[in-house]
Order: sequence, then structure tokens, then C-alpha cells
Amino acid sequence: MAKIVDVEVFKVQAPKTFDGSMGAFMKADDKRLPYITCKSMPRRNGDISGVVLQEGAVVVKITTEDGIYGLGSSGLYRNCTVIVQEVLKPLLLGADAMEIEKLWDIMFKATVAFGRKGAVIQAISAVDIALWDLMGKTMGIPVYQLLGGKVRDKIKVYATGNDLERFKAMGYKANKIPAPGGPGQGLEGFKANIAAAQRVARIMGEDAEIMYDCWQGWDIEFTVKVCKELKKQNLNVRWIEEPLMADDIDGHARLKDLLNPMGILVATGEHEYTRWGARELIEKKAIDIMQCDIWYSGGISEMRKMLAYAKAHNVYVVPHCNGMPVYHVSISSLQSPFAETLVLQSAANDANRLFLGEPQVVDGFLDVPDRPGLGYELNYDWGRMLPYS
Ligand SMILES: [Mg+2]
Repeated sequence: MAKIVDVEVFKVQAPKTFDGSMGAFMKADDKRLPYITCKSMPRRNGDISGVVLQEGAVVVKITTEDGIYGLGSSGLYRNCTVIVQEVLKPLLLGADAMEIEKLWDIMFKATVAFGRKGAVIQAISAVDIALWDLMGKTMGIPVYQLLGGKVRDKIKVYATGNDLERFKAMGYKANKIPAPGGPGQGLEGFKANIAAAQRVARIMGEDAEIMYDCWQGWDIEFTVKVCKELKKQNLNVRWIEEPLMADDIDGHARLKDLLNPMGILVATGEHEYTRWGARELIEKKAIDIMQCDIWYSGGISEMRKMLAYAKAHNVYVVPHCNGMPVYHVSISSLQSPFAETLVLQSAANDANRLFLGEPQVVDGFLDVPDRPGLGYELNYDWGRMLPYS
């Protein structure tokens, strides 16, 4: 038994100098704001393991009686520290850290009346990720081995953002465009999207794969119009991501019927929670690519279930966002041959990251280190770890 003796939770405060934007991505004067109403994009908070957007993240540290600890992170809603501290911690203290499946079930059932989705699941995700790190460290093996071992030598990755010259120099062969326009901008928005894809083809090459992230801000008519023009111009578009609101599952299914004959895939799921959310997307045939997020979905334990269900239905999983926990899941899953990397301006080197030890992209691929657990460590010299109070 690996008895849990402490559960700590921190809010991470990034240094004032830290620029969590991705080049032209997510700037305060963002022209998408007039038509994207679902999020306050410039103030989007949170942690993405190795990277931190704007205001910071939540980190959970779980320690067992033999002094071994595991680290997990989460939080586009940093106040989920309250849930970790006041609700989850009492359930964890004294429990066996090796019984992750049972602990997940206890945490989920204890919070079901006010949880199921949102901040509660983000809190459970951070705990779950820390438990997997802890199990790997306790057994002296990397988490990907706990998950069944590597199914490929390295992971093919794409870059999200606009710094195309830099992406090309780093060896990327696929780019996700932060959609520069939407239906609220009419013809101007339409033209901006076509110009963005032309720019990818010009700078990264005609064979570079192109994806669009639409942040739930497009509609069916606009999406079809953009896609028809992209095909007419032989631009190498692979998928359209979250063109509609996340809850508009029927709308995504309709779009899938319209775009698939053009050879374009529909991707969504980053805002979906747990196996039950994934099941609905898959059963309604709303997606070609499921993009579950390890910090929203319920952690590594829940991602495994989502991946298995996707595998049984021939749906590929390209997880939302990046970071060590995602890489361990991707490299040990047949259903996940492609991964995202957010290339932040300020996090180009390790010293500017919340976690140390993240692998570097080489020729559009990255490898996962074979250190025990998730193979990362908190960067205590960066930012401030504010304990729960
Ligand atoms: Mg997205």
C-alpha cells in the first residue's frame, strides 16, 4: 500500500513578464471578439502543463508515506483549488495511491450532485494526473509503460498559431490556424480565412496540412462556404475544429455530412467531459476526430476510456493541447497518431515553463522521455506557487 499522507494544491502565478499569447494568437485587440461570444479569449486563463496561458494554473501534489510525490495540473478555472482542498482531499488522505480507478470513482460519485462537468472535473483531472505520476514513480517506470507501452517511437505533432516561419524552422509539417474571421465579419471574414490557408501553403509548403480552430464561432453556411473555396484552390485542409457551439452536437453531425464528401474532417470535443460526453459525440456521428482534453476530461484514467470507445467506432483522437500527460497517453494509444503543440512565444525555452523536462519538437515529431512517472518536475524558479488559503 502507498498510503497518501498529504494533498497540496497551488494556484500558479506567472511572472509579470510572461507573455502567454501565441504570437498573433489571443491578443487583447483580437478581431474575433465581435462574433465569438462564447469565451473571453484575451483573458482565457489556465495551464497546459508545460505552458501557461495568461493568469496561471492549478497544481496538485500528492505525497505518500514513503515520501514519493506525484504532480498533476489543471485549470482553465483556477479556483478549482477549492474543490481539491475542501472536497477531494478528505477523500484521498489515508487511501492507497495505487488504487487510481477506485479513487476516481469515489471522487466522481462524491461530487456528482454539483459536478459531472466543468470545474469539478478539472479538479478531479489534476488529482488523477498526479496519481498516475505517483504510481509511475513508485514503480520506477514511465506512465506510458503503465498504459501498455509505446505503440510508436515518437509522436507526430502539429503547431497551433501563426508564427509560420518559426514553425517551419522547427520542422513542423502541419499547422492549425486560429481562424482569423467568422460569419460576423461577412465577406471580409471569409477572405481572411482563405488568405490564412494560402499563407500556410506559401510558407510551410503545399504539402503542409492545414487545420482551422473556429472556437465555436462559425455557423454551417459560413463553414461550408470556406471549405468549398479551400477545396477549389487545392489547399491541403484536413479538419475544421469546433465550428459550432460545443453543445450543438446535431449541428456538427450535419456539418460532417456536408464536409466529408469534400474530404474534410470535423473535429471537436475539447469542451466535453468524461466518457459519457465522448459517447454522445461518437454515437451521434458528430465527429471524425475527437479532441478530448486531459485537463477537462477527467485525467488520464478517463482519457483511456474515451480512447477505447473511439477506437471501437473508428474515430481518431487528437487530444486538445499539449504537455507531458498528453504525450504519455498519445504514445501508448493506437487511436492517437497525431498531437497538438501550442507554441507560445514566452515558453520557447525550458526556463519559461511551469514544468521542466518537456521534450522538444524535432522535424515535426517528439519523443517521450523514459523517466519514471510523467518525467517532469515543477519549475520552482518560475512564477509563484500560492498554497490554498
Ligand atoms: Mg480548439
